[in-house]
Amino acid sequence: MTQILQIYYTKGTIVKEKLESLITNIPDFPKKGVMFKDINPLLEVHLKEVVELMSKQIDWSNIDAVIGIESRGFILGAAMAVQNNVGFIPIRKKGKLPPPVVSQAYTLEYGEDILEMALNDTVKRVVLVDDVLATGGTYNAARELCLKNNYDVKAFSVVIDLQFLNQLHKEIPNLYSIFNY
Ligand code: AMP
Repeated sequence: MTQILQIYYTKGTIVKEKLESLITNIPDFPKKGVMFKDINPLLEVHLKEVVELMSKQIDWSNIDAVIGIESRGFILGAAMAVQNNVGFIPIRKKGKLPPPVVSQAYTLEYGEDILEMALNDTVKRVVLVDDVLATGGTYNAARELCLKNNYDVKAFSVVIDLQFLNQLHKEIPNLYSIFNY
């Protein structure tokens, strides 16, 4: 592990291109026409470095909690929350959280679903975290859930922004990603 890590650092800086080479492209998954970006091989070796890169982009001085979107947003978001000493709140698929919840229907790159979050008005300033931003349907639903709870979304953080599928980087100033396509 130590040797592998050394390859990915040059003069103490994480070499993003080397990290990027661990993202796998899976054509026609989970549906024909979708190029699935699998970040699991990247996280298997470099979860710490990915979380550090994502965390560095955010001003943590005004954040109360990280909100992770099921399911890869849990892995990244929980790690970011621990690293930056703030709380963690999950957004889950319909039926997984006990009531009371706020709900929002949405369409993503390869389907439709309903997202839910616990009804809560104690937390105020939050960072939303997911693995991939594709069409933006998931982000918009997560944002709506935050509005329903009166949360102030200070930032949205993803590993990959598929900019050829969305224009959100032009619309929201507080969208942070490590890799863009
Ligand atoms: P969207 O709502 O279209 O922005 O889709 C974002 C959500 O779907 C994220 O939670 C991703 O995990 C997943 N997703 C959508 N498209 C892809 C893709 N091409 N590769 C990997 N994950 C994707």
